[in-house]
Amino acid sequence: MDRDFLKMSSGELSIVRRELEERYAEFQARKLKLNMARGKPGAEQLDISDAILESVNPKFAADGTDCRNYGGLEGLPEMRQFFGEALKIAPENIIIGGNSSLNLMYDAMARLMLFGTQGNTPWCKLPKVKFLCPSPGYDRHFAVTEEFGFELITVPMTGNGPDMEIVETLVREDDTIKGIWCVPLYSNPEGVVYSDETVSRLAAMKCAAPDFRIFWDNAYGVHHLYEEIELKDIFAECAKAGNPDRVLYFFSTSKITYPGAGVSMVASSAANCAEILKHMTIQTIGHDKLNQLRTLQILKDAEGLKAQMKKQAELLRPKFELVLRTLEKELAGTGLAQWKNPKGGYFVALDTMDGCAKETIRLAKEAGVTMTGAGATFPYKNDPRDRNIRIAPTFPPLEELAVAMELFCLCVKLAAVRKLMA
Ligand code: PLP
Repeated sequence: MDRDFLKMSSGELSIVRRELEERYAEFQARKLKLNMARGKPGAEQLDISDAILESVNPKFAADGTDCRNYGGLEGLPEMRQFFGEALKIAPENIIIGGNSSLNLMYDAMARLMLFGTQGNTPWCKLPKVKFLCPSPGYDRHFAVTEEFGFELITVPMTGNGPDMEIVETLVREDDTIKGIWCVPLYSNPEGVVYSDETVSRLAAMKCAAPDFRIFWDNAYGVHHLYEEIELKDIFAECAKAGNPDRVLYFFSTSKITYPGAGVSMVASSAANCAEILKHMTIQTIGHDKLNQLRTLQILKDAEGLKAQMKKQAELLRPKFELVLRTLEKELAGTGLAQWKNPKGGYFVALDTMDGCAKETIRLAKEAGVTMTGAGATFPYKNDPRDRNIRIAPTFPPLEELAVAMELFCLCVKLAAVRKLMA
């Protein structure tokens, strides 16, 4: 029998369906309770950073600042220096936030909405605001722009980033399009790395809106599973193209140390940083400096960060390799699914046959394996082809992941066979 389900006769399909249903019933009988939905680190990844809790807590910054007290709105100099070195950004263009970069993104969007930027009309005063959402993408990004009432425009992802032909055409012609979400390295969920050409084109494209902003969320900027991949410098490209204020760059140590107690940052042009600080000073007297010191105590510098990320990668590689090996073994050549092989980040994304993602996830759930909801990777949680599924391999222990992946692949096949026979 051909392995390609699309070439099977209906007789062959019914034999396969019976086998799959038997195996599925066996899984159901096991009463599993597994979860591949959560894009969070496993406990063993968190343990790597426990020196943060075990070390003597420092109180003073290098310049003598008493970190127990108020002050230091833009963050400790050594924290800005650390991020600057690690990400090759000028430290004076970096502002430190609290523990969450998503919080900084939300605030940045809220400022654009309420106050506008550089003399442009605040977005809340405009009859319509649209935002580009390269998809599949990160549901919480889309949720922020949805909450502010923007119209979300889906832009397809390619292997090199968002489809730039479409992006360039849209932003050139429509001044109500005010920005784009980007996860440029190991994108959530496909693990796509933006090519140099994509970075340059985003920086240089002609935008009808003078206050068009790129939300450059480099959440996985140092999360290499294998060799390091370097992104083209978006700030340099923007400056070269005469668009120095276009980018708001976000990053955090959430998936470097602790997601619940990391340090976040936003970087931008001098003009944008001045605006951010003007509003931030009304919002807070300063973020948690003791946590900045604690974090630096274990990460130290760019070399320390690299060492930390090597340890993270050693824990994550076996999980990613297990997922990819199982997909290859169970689904390659079946015609039922496609996926990319990410070289870093936190996820693997899989496309089922059209119209099968919801059913696959329902089947997995009924047999005890929770996946990220179907549609979550698209604006309004609406995947027009109902095919994209995000697999999050980091949280479950390896043995659980193996069982969950076996069942998941079975569900991909069962949903597809039933659809083919319907
Ligand atoms: N950005 C992306 C692309 C993410 O995947 C995540 C978490 O999954 C975040 C941001 C959240 O970042 P933070 O913990 O810094 O708020």
